[in-house]
Amino acid sequence: MATPAVVLVLPCAPLAKPYSYTWPFARPAIAGQYVQIPLGNRIVLGVVWDTVGAPPAKGALKDVLRVFDELPPLPATLRTFLTWMADYTISPLGAVLKLSLSVPTAFDDPPKRGKTLSFPWPEGRSSPTTLSPTQQDAATVLTSSLGQFSPLVLDGVTGAGKTEVYSEAIAACLAQGQQAVVLLPEIALSAGMLERFRQRFGEGVTLWHSGLTPATRRETWKAIARGDVPLVIGARSALFLPYQSLGLVVVDEEHDSSYKQEDGVHYHARDMAVVRAREADCPVILVSATPALETITNIKHGRYTAVHLPDRHGSAVLPAVTLVDMRREVLPSGEWLSPTARQAITATLARDQQVLLFLNRRGYAPLTLCRSCGHRFECPNCSAWLVQHKQKKRLQCHHCGYHAPPPAQCPACKGEDTLTPCGPGVERIAEEAALAFPSAQLAVLSSDTMESPQDAAQLIEQVQQKQLSILVGTQVMAKGHHFPALTLVVVLDADVGLSGGDIRAAERTWQLLHQVAGRSGRGEWKGQVLLQTYIPDHPVMQTLAHHDRNGFLKTQLAERQATGFPPFGRLAALIIAAPDARRAEQTTQALARAMPLAKGLEVLGPAPAPLAYLKGQHRWRFLLKARKDFPIQRAIRDWLGAIKPESGVKIQVDIDPYSFL
Ligand code: ADP
Ligand code: ZN
Repeated sequence: MATPAVVLVLPCAPLAKPYSYTWPFARPAIAGQYVQIPLGNRIVLGVVWDTVGAPPAKGALKDVLRVFDELPPLPATLRTFLTWMADYTISPLGAVLKLSLSVPTAFDDPPKRGKTLSFPWPEGRSSPTTLSPTQQDAATVLTSSLGQFSPLVLDGVTGAGKTEVYSEAIAACLAQGQQAVVLLPEIALSAGMLERFRQRFGEGVTLWHSGLTPATRRETWKAIARGDVPLVIGARSALFLPYQSLGLVVVDEEHDSSYKQEDGVHYHARDMAVVRAREADCPVILVSATPALETITNIKHGRYTAVHLPDRHGSAVLPAVTLVDMRREVLPSGEWLSPTARQAITATLARDQQVLLFLNRRGYAPLTLCRSCGHRFECPNCSAWLVQHKQKKRLQCHHCGYHAPPPAQCPACKGEDTLTPCGPGVERIAEEAALAFPSAQLAVLSSDTMESPQDAAQLIEQVQQKQLSILVGTQVMAKGHHFPALTLVVVLDADVGLSGGDIRAAERTWQLLHQVAGRSGRGEWKGQVLLQTYIPDHPVMQTLAHHDRNGFLKTQLAERQATGFPPFGRLAALIIAAPDARRAEQTTQALARAMPLAKGLEVLGPAPAPLAYLKGQHRWRFLLKARKDFPIQRAIRDWLGAIKPESGVKIQVDIDPYSFL
C-alpha cells in the first residue's frame, strides 16, 4: 500500500502557520479545500494550505478527518491576501483565516427544514436615472477599469451622485458574471442605501453585518462561497468573505474611522480593501467627499487615480456655512442652543422644513457629580466617567458596557438628591429643544434609539414622511441619508473633536462636520449650517465656512510632512494589557529594556495608556514612529521575540494606529 500523502493544513485558530496532516482519502487534496482536523484535544476547521506537506521527523502525523467538498475551495487569491495581511498586521495567520471562516456553522450538517434563500442575479443593466455628462464620464472611467487591478478614488461633494456613478460600475461587473462588494461604515443604519441597491439590482443584493440571524448568516456565507450572490453590501468584515469570483470592491465613505478594526486582528479595512483587490486583480473604488490625507497623498504620487464629481446633482447647491461665535452669544447656564440658532430654527420650522441638531455625544450627560461633595461617577472597569442615560434610566460606560441605575444618594457623602448632570448629550439637547419649540415633533437619532435595523428604518421613514421636524442626532446622522426637506443643520459643539493629542483631530473634525453639513439642502431648497464654536479662527472652522478644502488639505499635509507623521512616516503601537497591574508593568519594563535602536526609528514610551484601565485590564503603550521606508514589522517581530511576557499579559500590535487611547 502506498504511503498516504501529507498535506499542510492551516487551522482556523490563532496559530501562526499551517501544520502537516496525513490525507487518508482516495481523491487527491486540492489547495483551499475546507477540512476538519484534530488539534490538541479539539476538532477544528481548517483549510488545505498546500497539498505537499513535510513528513514528520519522528512520530506519526494525524489524519485529516473530513473534507467539505460540497463547497468550492477557498480561492487562491484570498489565501495570498490573508497571508499578506497576517504578515503586515503581525497577526497569527490562523487568526486572520478566522476572519474569512467567520461562520463555522456553515459546515454543520444542513438542518432538515432549512431556510432557503435565493440570490437572483440581476438581468440587464439599464440605469433608472439618466446621468449628467460629468457623471457619465466618471462612470465610464470606473467601468472601463474592470477586469484588472486599479485603485480609483471617486471624489465628489455630498449629493454629487457618487452612489449613482459607482452603481454603473457594479452593474457592469455583475453583467460580466462577477461578484461585487460595497463596504459601508454604519451598515446596520443603512436601510436606505440597501433599498436603493435593491431597487436597482433586485433581491440578489445581500446584507452582511453582525446583526444577521444565525440561519441567514450561514446560508449567505455558503452562497457567497459558491459564487451565487451577486452583490454584498457589508461592514468591514464583508471584505474577508470567500467570494468565488470577485470583480469589484467599493469602499464608501473611505475616510471613515470606523473602518479601523481595533479588536483582535487590528487592521484598516480601506487599506486592506486595496490589497484584496490587488490580489483578486480587480478595481477598488474609494468613495468620499472628504478623502483621507493618506488617500490624497496616494493620488498625488500616482498610486491611485482620482475621478472627480465637483458639483451637486441638479439644482441643489452646497449649504451656506455660518460660524456662531459662542464667546458673543448670551446663554443661561444649562442651555446650549444659542439665540442665533434658535432664530434660525424658528424660521426653518415656519417654512415647514426640517432641522438637525448635531452633537456627537450619546446619552443625557457625559458626567454626573455630587453637588455637595464633588464625587464623580466612574466605571469600575475602566478609567472613564459613566455617562448618564435618561431614557434608559441608568449610568453607563461607553467603553465596556457596564451600567447601573442612578443611585438615590451619593455613595461618598450619602447626600440625598445631590447628583447633577454635567454637560450635554443628545437627550439633554432634545429636552432643551422640546421646551423651546413645544409644537415641533422631535426625535433623538443615535445608536441608542436606532439599535435594531427595524428601529432605524422606522425613524428614517418618519423623517422622510416629515412626521418629525427636529432631529437631534449623533454621528449616525452624518452618513449617507438623503432628506430633501432638511435645510438647517446646527452643530452644537463644533470644537468637541479638536482637543486631545490625536494627530488626526483636525482632519477628522473637518470630515465629520463637512459630512454633517452635507445633510442640509439636498433637495430643492438651499441649506444652511450653523457651527457653534469658541474658536472661530481655527483652520477647521475657516475651511468649513469658506468651503476651502484645498487650502486646508495643503496646510494639513505640510504639517504632517514637517512632523514626519503619516502619510509621510509610519506609526505602530504596542499595547500591553493585563488584569494584574504588576505583571503588566513588568512585561512593559522587559520590553523597554529590549527596545529596538535603529536609524529611522523612534520609540516613544512606555507610558500608561490614556485609558490606563480598560475593561478590567491595566494598560501601557509604546508608540513607534518610523521613516516611510523603515521595515517596521521586522523590527517589531524581533523585539517581541526578544522577551517573554509574564503570564496573563497580552501584547497587542497596532500597525497604522488611529486611536491613541
Ligand atoms: P452622493 O453619494 O454623492 O452623496 P447620491 O448618489 O446619493 O450622491 O445622489 C444624491 C441624490 O441625487 C440622490 O437622491 C440621487 O438619486 C440623486 N441623483 C444623483 N444623480 C442623479 C441623476 N443623474 N438623475 C437623477 N437623480 C440623481
Ligand atoms: Zn467601563
